[in-house]
Amino acid sequence: MKTDIKSLTMAEIKQTLTKMGEKPFRGEQIYGWLHEKLAVSFGEMSNLSGDLRSRLEDRFALPVLSAVQVQKSRLDGTEKYLFRLPDGHLTESVRMRYHHGNSVCISSQVGCRMGCRFCASTLDGLERGLAPSEMLEQIYAITRLTGERVSNVVVMGMGEPLDNYDNLLRFLSLLTGEKGLHMSQRNVTISTCGIAPGIRRLADEGLQITLALSLHAVTDEKRKRLMPITEKYPLEEVLSACAYYGERTGRRITCEYSLIAGVNDGDADVAGLAAIAGRLHCHINLIPVNPVTERGFAAPGRGHVQDFKSRLEKRRVNVTVRREMGRDIDGACGQLRRRYENG
Ligand code: SAH
Repeated sequence: MKTDIKSLTMAEIKQTLTKMGEKPFRGEQIYGWLHEKLAVSFGEMSNLSGDLRSRLEDRFALPVLSAVQVQKSRLDGTEKYLFRLPDGHLTESVRMRYHHGNSVCISSQVGCRMGCRFCASTLDGLERGLAPSEMLEQIYAITRLTGERVSNVVVMGMGEPLDNYDNLLRFLSLLTGEKGLHMSQRNVTISTCGIAPGIRRLADEGLQITLALSLHAVTDEKRKRLMPITEKYPLEEVLSACAYYGERTGRRITCEYSLIAGVNDGDADVAGLAAIAGRLHCHINLIPVNPVTERGFAAPGRGHVQDFKSRLEKRRVNVTVRREMGRDIDGACGQLRRRYENG
């Protein structure tokens, strides 16, 4: 199998080029073509000789994603992309436009094995993790298609990023490294369902990435019913890993809380959430659950959501309600791919 050149660091490309009898600066040129100019073929690398280009072609794969479907929300301009991967699998990404710039939500796996009860991505289980190049390509392809820079990245699409740890780390280093897009680590958010050892490991990497925890329930008993991962990593273990992340990185954590009518929107939930927010000094992001046909959960009414929010504010919790972007275009994780594949 050919080596995936877009998942290699600059140092690795230089090393390989040296082995091929080329000067190391050729490696820098190639890296620039891949990660600054967002090239889609070796053919366009015009400052390399034809001979070198064809040797690269023989030796390396250059994965590119093709958009099979693009939906644009009429409500807020949010765009949802369905991409085909080189092996034929499908992945989803979303671009949201804010006044401070373009934010892209990317997937980290095809499918997911975490089994969250309200989520569409996990209905058919995990196919495979995405390569670093395939995570990058979601951002690169959107940049090429729109001609606009991406300033923020959230890893909140399909899949559990900490279940694809090594590829995630390599992706982060390519995305935020000095060459290439050179995105600020602070503009990158990783969202996890709560893989405690992964959170601790990430805390020790010396990065300034923002961490988001998908909390959704404040007791083990209730959380187990929504998020089976709680069986493996109970809430206490997850929260203490998050506290550790905060200490090590100095970054404020966000807790995501999908509000589901009659399930996690009562008085005891307000109290438990306020206690967790106080302990972690975290920001709480409330998301009225996006109904997925197969799941049968409903969001509370708008008034109840506001009331839940103001009861948290009375307890001095830093809380926002997520703007519902792209509701008309299958905005929730895994919905678009599923609809496409099931025809
Ligand atoms: N596996 C990671 C990232 C992917 S999910 C994680 O669990 O955080 C991104 C966020 O969307 C998570 O908070 C997830 O719980 C939430 N989510 C998934 N399906 C949803 C739905 N139908 N409605 C609202 N939020 C949902």
